[in-house]
Amino acid sequence: MGRAFVYVVLGGGVAAGYAALEFARRGGYSRGELCIISEEAVAPYERPALSKGYLLPEDPARLPGFHTCVGANDELLTTKWYKEQGIELVLGTKVISADVRRKTLLTATGETISYKTLIIATGARALKLEEFGISGSDATNICYLRSLDDADKLVNAMSSCSGGNAVVIGGGYIGMECAAALVTNKIKVTMVFPENHCMARLFTQKIAEYYESYYTSKGVTFTKGTVLTSFEKEDPTGKVTAVVLKDGKHLPADMVVVGIGIRANTSLFEGQLLMEKGGIKVNGQMQTSDSSVYAVGDVAAFPIKLFDGDTRRLEHVDSARRTARHAVAAILEPSKTRDVDYLPFFYSRVFTLSWQFYGDNVGEVVHYGDFASSSPSFGAYWISKGRITGAFLEGGSREEYEALSVVVRRKAKVSSMSELEKQGLSFAIQE
Ligand code: FAD
Ligand code: NDP
Repeated sequence: MGRAFVYVVLGGGVAAGYAALEFARRGGYSRGELCIISEEAVAPYERPALSKGYLLPEDPARLPGFHTCVGANDELLTTKWYKEQGIELVLGTKVISADVRRKTLLTATGETISYKTLIIATGARALKLEEFGISGSDATNICYLRSLDDADKLVNAMSSCSGGNAVVIGGGYIGMECAAALVTNKIKVTMVFPENHCMARLFTQKIAEYYESYYTSKGVTFTKGTVLTSFEKEDPTGKVTAVVLKDGKHLPADMVVVGIGIRANTSLFEGQLLMEKGGIKVNGQMQTSDSSVYAVGDVAAFPIKLFDGDTRRLEHVDSARRTARHAVAAILEPSKTRDVDYLPFFYSRVFTLSWQFYGDNVGEVVHYGDFASSSPSFGAYWISKGRITGAFLEGGSREEYEALSVVVRRKAKVSSMSELEKQGLSFAIQE
């Protein structure tokens, strides 16, 4: 049993949706030549909604409202749209092996799908506690968050523990955004993570202090510098009732949310394509070590011109959208498509707060602005070799964020750190 396509997108997440729109806009295929294969049962959607709008107690975001590409203020691509465009959506279908030499994919249903050109957009999976030697995380009241099914499990768990206690494991993006959502759903939250402050890979101590004190004012408790070692469970339901920490403390828990990082879904291609930084290595055209295969989104490790060509694997939505579009451009119009020139961009929104970050958080840090106000506007620059490498801002306007992105892209020169601290945001605006 088999089908043949010219173009196959493997994975049906954010990158797949933006790739589909780019194919349609460029008109580079005929009906029935392009297919998207996804393990998920629904058409590509904006994954960031799962830790934000989807978890709201009132008027939550639901499909079809957040299919791609609404996150970039672009068209809403429903199943009907794919049909109209002649793009085959092969949903609820897991690919279990790939043969790059033969240009074939084998699905769990036993179908062989062949391609001329493949775009790998398999994203990533959530790391499980079992991978750190802790068992029992399949309990009904322990939630991870990557897919729509995970989000539904989380919504159900929240609805059955209003007024109760949640323990959030991990102080990264999932931990911070889910803690805010839990509080909004009137659930008491304790966050547990090994570092001495939240968002340790990006935030400075000073930035983290602001968010931690804001979260504390909303009733969140922080248990830092430790990890959990086991769960206490109730028989016979197997529901978790408490989290046991390394220091012996027991935290009562009606539910647990775990966000301890991800691994890129590369396994189908290990030994067949070059890998780097935990992902599939691609060039500036998003092309892998096999010229018929491209990789985009969370799974791709690509060169960042701005960082002197250093290879990075980024786990953020803007990168997924842009690398997907870039790969399609490179496939359809190779001679007109220059190497990707991407400015790394991360953001988050929690409670009424909202921040953005551009560039790389390396070098010395200069903080500026008002960290004390209840409607804050503060930020930081990272400076290396006398030039701006990264910029963070909480509570900025569109114009202010745009100004920051420009100074980072230009690697603006800094002649005096103390002057930069005094100027703060106006340094970027005046540039
Ligand atoms: P994904 O969107 O993960 O899609 C991968 C797809 O591949 C899935 O459909 C999966 O089922 C499919 N797949 C994998 N293996 C197979 C297989 N073998 N066979 C068939 N199908 C397969 N980033 C931000 O910048 N800002 C945010 O606010 C933000 N919020 C987020 C909130 C949550 C809850 C999560 C989980 C992530 C968030 N991110 C955010 C990160 C962002 O969503 C990802 O960077 C983005 O989704 C990556 O897109 P992708 O297409 O590479 O992977
Ligand atoms: P992150 O990498 O952001 O954070 C993981 C956190 O868990 C880190 O603080 C990490 O510490 C900690 N940790 C690791 N192991 C353990 C352990 N055994 N016990 C307790 N804590 C542990 O990953 P997330 O899971 O939060 O997010 C998953 C993905 O979703 C990421 O790709 C992220 O980019 C994406 N996402 C992005 C959002 C955004 O951009 N706004 C929002 C939501 C998700 P350490 O650093 O020491 O390993």
